[in-house]
Amino acid sequence: MGKIIAIANQKGGVAKTTTAVNLGTCLALMGQPVLLVDLDPQGNATSGLGVDKSALDRCIYDVLINELNVDEVIIPSGIRNLDIIPSTIQLAGAEVEMVSLLAREQILKGAMSELKNRYQYIIIDCPPSLGLLTLNALSAADSLLIPIQCEFYALEGVGQLMNTVQLVQKHLNQGLKIEGVLLTMFDARLNLSIQVVDEVKKVFGTKVFKNIIPRNVRLSEAPSHGIPVVIYDPKSKGSEAYQELAKEVMGID
Ligand code: ADP
Ligand code: MG
Repeated sequence: MGKIIAIANQKGGVAKTTTAVNLGTCLALMGQPVLLVDLDPQGNATSGLGVDKSALDRCIYDVLINELNVDEVIIPSGIRNLDIIPSTIQLAGAEVEMVSLLAREQILKGAMSELKNRYQYIIIDCPPSLGLLTLNALSAADSLLIPIQCEFYALEGVGQLMNTVQLVQKHLNQGLKIEGVLLTMFDARLNLSIQVVDEVKKVFGTKVFKNIIPRNVRLSEAPSHGIPVVIYDPKSKGSEAYQELAKEVMGID
């Protein structure tokens, strides 16, 4: 049985998408069948894998709103073992349109239920909010991965995220676990980065991943080429960190 991992933090720019794309690609290259679900209307995970959004005539929106079967929206990424359900800007309207639907927090869960038989990992890249799209991801997920940027205000909003997780566990998805907290954009030269690591470890203890993702320019260059960094520059520090993270997620570190 596969595992659904939602990557969420309502703060933007903390490396949710970078983590979704690169963790997903690493797991796929390690032989695991992976499905990446782009649940952000900005579609950065979709374009980060080189998919041309303007050429798509359907996306995750159609699964949520038009009851299209997931098989009609899954496309191969071009990378071995890695498929994607893309997102387009059409998804921006979905939160408003879902409000009137029955069991509106559980639509994604229903749509994805049989995919766990086909994929070992299903990774959901969430938008930067705690709205209905993220609630759908948390309802469908087995676990939550929280990226935290080693910057000022790193923990800002994390309390609210954890409250949301508790509400989801109580009312929508009892089985939701914390996969781990991932420290990102770490700069060893900065005291601030080191302080953030200490602070986050104090709050989350053993839930913090051992592997910390360094700030690495190759990671920020790769998306504009539509290639994950682990393929764009496999020997870069950013690539190596995500490969180690993939092993940690698989429990083989
Ligand atoms: P989110 O999805 O949380 O909004 P992104 O993954 O899009 O965040 O990352 C925000 C920006 O930071 C992007 O431009 C991305 O390329 C860059 N970035 C992410 N991780 C790193 C890193 N470790 N080092 C340098 N740049 C990074
Ligand atoms: Mg993103």
